[in-house]
Amino acid sequence: MIPTSHCQVIKMFMKACMWRGTRHTPQPSLRLHWGCLFTSRSWQSNKASVVGDLNIILMGPPGAGKTSVGRVLANKLRRPVFDVDDNILEVTWKMPVADKLAQVGGKRFLEEEGEALCNFSTTGSVISLTGSNPLHPRSMQHLKPTGLVVYLDVDSQDILQRLSTMKVKRIVGQEEGVSMRHILQYRKQFYEKWLDIRVLCGTGDTVEEVAEKVLQAVERYHNSESETYISTRSHDGSTGNLKHFSDVVVEGLAPDGGLYIPQKGFPKLEVREWLRLTDMSYPERALAILERCIHPLDIPATELRRMVFKAYGANFSSEEVAPVKHLVRNQFVQELFHGPTASFKDLALQLMPRLFAYCLPQMCNYLILVATSGDTGSAVLSGFGGLSDGDRQRTGVLVFFPEVGVSEIQKLQMTGYSEGNARAVSALADFDFCQRSIKTMFGDANLTGHLAVEYGTMLTTANSINWARLLPQVVYHSSAYLDLYRDGAIKFGEPIDVCIPTGNFGNAMSALYAKQMGIPIRKIICASNHNRIVSDFINTGEYDLRDRPLMVSSSPAIDILKSSNLERFLYHVSEGDGHLVRELFTRLERDGRFKVPEGLLRGIQEDVLAGWCSEDDCLGAIRDVHRETGYVMDTHTAVAKVVADRLQDRLCPVVICSTAHYGKFAPAVLEALQFRNIPKAPLEQLEELGSVVLRPQMHTDLLRSLRESRSQTHTVCQADFTVLVDEVETMIQDSFLKVL
Ligand SMILES: *Cc1c(COP(=O)(O)O)cnc(C)c1O
Repeated sequence: MIPTSHCQVIKMFMKACMWRGTRHTPQPSLRLHWGCLFTSRSWQSNKASVVGDLNIILMGPPGAGKTSVGRVLANKLRRPVFDVDDNILEVTWKMPVADKLAQVGGKRFLEEEGEALCNFSTTGSVISLTGSNPLHPRSMQHLKPTGLVVYLDVDSQDILQRLSTMKVKRIVGQEEGVSMRHILQYRKQFYEKWLDIRVLCGTGDTVEEVAEKVLQAVERYHNSESETYISTRSHDGSTGNLKHFSDVVVEGLAPDGGLYIPQKGFPKLEVREWLRLTDMSYPERALAILERCIHPLDIPATELRRMVFKAYGANFSSEEVAPVKHLVRNQFVQELFHGPTASFKDLALQLMPRLFAYCLPQMCNYLILVATSGDTGSAVLSGFGGLSDGDRQRTGVLVFFPEVGVSEIQKLQMTGYSEGNARAVSALADFDFCQRSIKTMFGDANLTGHLAVEYGTMLTTANSINWARLLPQVVYHSSAYLDLYRDGAIKFGEPIDVCIPTGNFGNAMSALYAKQMGIPIRKIICASNHNRIVSDFINTGEYDLRDRPLMVSSSPAIDILKSSNLERFLYHVSEGDGHLVRELFTRLERDGRFKVPEGLLRGIQEDVLAGWCSEDDCLGAIRDVHRETGYVMDTHTAVAKVVADRLQDRLCPVVICSTAHYGKFAPAVLEALQFRNIPKAPLEQLEELGSVVLRPQMHTDLLRSLRESRSQTHTVCQADFTVLVDEVETMIQDSFLKVL
């Protein structure tokens, strides 16, 4: 017990942590200044009357439309416009820019151009840069603090076309034998380096439309208070205390026990913007999507870029990251298992820790508590293990997993990480016990206060309830659609279905969010194994935990009783009825069941279909698909395949989410493929599979991690809450220095 006087201390301490945690404002002055420009939501109708003293700086390749968009913008805002070419360079040099380039050559030109910009200053203006300004660091450093750098991101094909109509023959850097395309490609890195805001310009966008997008993007930057998050259990959506992205990432669960969601829903991309994403790589797509969902004052675009490219780089064994393969007929498989730990959780967890570490307040240590039924554990350990040393010194990860019901391979993957600030321990209980215990710890003010005062440590979570876990998953659902369009399987706008082996409903929820962003997903088909509470719920509207012992299955990652992200879905379908959501989940705690009103059930079934698959059918599907196509699915993918076969009407393509590599569930897959004398050791099982399966290839990281992991021992806890609490404290003592 903690004396009352201590409580005050704790509160102040926690407040300090929270306060420090709120948002990074790299240019604090901006917030104030933009206030003058856009005094309120009514600024649209009243653009002329307010002029702040910050500049809007338009950047982009030649032909991006900087000059014409700049003029329209300046007109709309009644601000002066400066075109660096016309108003600065030609005035300074007293000759056309092209003549100067011809006279002095590219290298010297860049220097003189930069010099001229360094000698220029203005406020409250629109500035249209030249295409080459961003190649000169000193002048950009001079200019950037005076306003917002807006990158007009135009497709290279469009640029080339415009340049040929504009009869531009030569630009800086274009020496003999270097193609224009090559130069545009080379310059991208400089634009990406200096931007504050990206404006994705679609093929066919008019100058007016681009100018309008710039205005909206600038307003968004200014009006960060409108991008806030609320709890699924909040009553009226206006709970005084505004939560931003950084806050909800650090907090995980909302104080009222609900889950955080964006108050205004998801931003929608226009069709032309989606089309721009079609030719992009996975990290580029991720960046374009996430920039819209994470406010730049929480994570600046350039930082986000760094994180996204690290997260989806060489650590994935497929360069495409989440490729879509044709299976049979109208069925496609999205391979979500190319990450370091061979499950789809890597798609979220290679990025989430980076977002998380960036948002963390500097003065606290953070212990991330995770309950897992298998795949989350290794993915979290790998994700947080990939952080920089500095970040690792103040973030620890403790993973709880059920001793029974997790595969040998998963166990080896997790317990292999028993060093430093990352550790996995098991409990002689099921997944729901682990998850419930963690929830209880968060809600226990005595415990959290004690840890804060004694060790300067806050508890948080990386479970799929955390917003930063869910958000990155929106990208691969979008990416699957773009791939199908790119490869000619659909026309843009035609619907697809997505079939998902469902546990905590995170994957399914993120598909719903992709739909909100504008991806034409018709139905999300949720697939359960014989632990079928989710599919029963979707079919009947009744969520009933009573008389449902968790049964062992060959697809343990979807063995679930309480499917936490369902709460977000119910909030969404009930159109934000936090009162109802609170009541339903309170009832679930109290009575072990709830039933949603008829209208709500119809709403649920608008978006989602559900079915379940027996153990025999699961293994049978692996065998049949292998016989028919040579392709080997893991057990979870097979559950989805069986349900897709049953429920999908073949009126459109269906993407089956392959959430794990078959090697991860080797014993069941070997059994399904009717191997005799299945070896006992996981490594031998994998080698056996590797020797016969051609498609998809064996997962080399998985194989390597098993080869490297010697017979690890790990702590096994009794199914007792206090024992788990002791583990938490021990972990903190081992990881962080005592403050008192
Ligand atoms: C976690 C997991 C699932 C369940 O995903 P949810 O987002 O919890 O529904 C399905 N398959 C595999 C292989 C997993 O690891």
